Amino acid sequence: MIENGILTKTSVLLRGAFKEYYFKSAKTLEEPKKIEQREFGYSHFGQPGMVRHLSFRNTGELIATLVKEVPSDVYCSNAYYRFPTSPMQDKEWTGADMIFDIDGKDLGLPCVPSHSHLLCATCGASSPGAELSGPYVCQSCGSRKYESSSIPCSRCVEGSKKEVVKLVDFLKNDLGIGPDNIGIYFSGNNGFHVHISDEAYVPLDPAARSDLVGYVRGAGLMAESLGVRKGDGSGTSIIKFPRGGIEYGWRSRMADELGINSTSTIKLRNIVDHAGGYSGFKMELDKKAREKGARIDPQVTTDIHRVFRMPGTLNSKSGLAKTKCSNLGSFDPFVDACLLGDSKTIVKVKSPVKIKLKGKAYNISKESAELPAFVAVYLVCKGLAEAA
Ligand SMILES: [Zn+2]
Ligand SMILES: [Zn+2]
Repeated sequence: MIENGILTKTSVLLRGAFKEYYFKSAKTLEEPKKIEQREFGYSHFGQPGMVRHLSFRNTGELIATLVKEVPSDVYCSNAYYRFPTSPMQDKEWTGADMIFDIDGKDLGLPCVPSHSHLLCATCGASSPGAELSGPYVCQSCGSRKYESSSIPCSRCVEGSKKEVVKLVDFLKNDLGIGPDNIGIYFSGNNGFHVHISDEAYVPLDPAARSDLVGYVRGAGLMAESLGVRKGDGSGTSIIKFPRGGIEYGWRSRMADELGINSTSTIKLRNIVDHAGGYSGFKMELDKKAREKGARIDPQVTTDIHRVFRMPGTLNSKSGLAKTKCSNLGSFDPFVDACLLGDSKTIVKVKSPVKIKLKGKAYNISKESAELPAFVAVYLVCKGLAEAA
């Protein structure tokens, strides 16, 4: 969005809307715990890369910088450092909050092509994603490179929420984390971040975090933990319930799934035989565990030096804000995280598009449209419109 060092009209439009937001929303920005020990970073509109290794003593300082610089995206470390502005090797890591990331685009939902647009990587032209059959060729310039831009639908939002609910069940009931220490945030585009502020998890190293990731995803669940062991002969198995019982954690989840309890030896024997013995049963168990597990991004949680999108800041992929969900069930990102103003903004729309924001449906087919700023910015961030 920068040509010859000059901000394009589209960057100017976005910066104007973002600046107004940071100017007005100063009071609502949530101050990260121990802010002075965190590393901050941000990106500029139309420029690659990120300015990192920044530190602020309070939100007042941070907001002053946001209003002055008007970043496209703002990040804050989950880690606490003694020297947050030093190069990584000299920062002296002292701990990190645990954060889980659920990204709607990783869920493989069947609705996605119906609300995706393909954007030519060379000229930016847009075409509906549902029409792609065979290799992509841009109708305007003939380029074969494209990026996909998706406007999540209600099924996408519900799909991501379902994963959050599964994750929170593990965190509360298996790991014993209190509800006050679990913060659920809409990511600002198409997913959710779950922040754990329980002090007990702050010192964990990547290996320990990786174990927890495996646990909540349902990886490596042993048939033995449900009382099924390999027999001596091929295909044979031994049923003997573990001494610890099957009433807790994954054992209980899988026991419910199979309809057994620790007295159902004959029923479990039938299930195992029906699955074709030990190996077949283990495969079925793996499949069920993957379905029951929470579909989180494993890399995000194990990275203890990462900077994360900061709550209350705007996401340049959508113009929506990363927003705390006090009630996940009723949370509507297109209302509750749509926080920009409504000043009239004229944009050139690249292809017809339907969206619903702040409770109002917009069916835009005109090439040049006058829209409230929050709609115009959303379309521009999605690559579906540009400044007129
Ligand atoms: Zn093109
Ligand atoms: Zn969808």
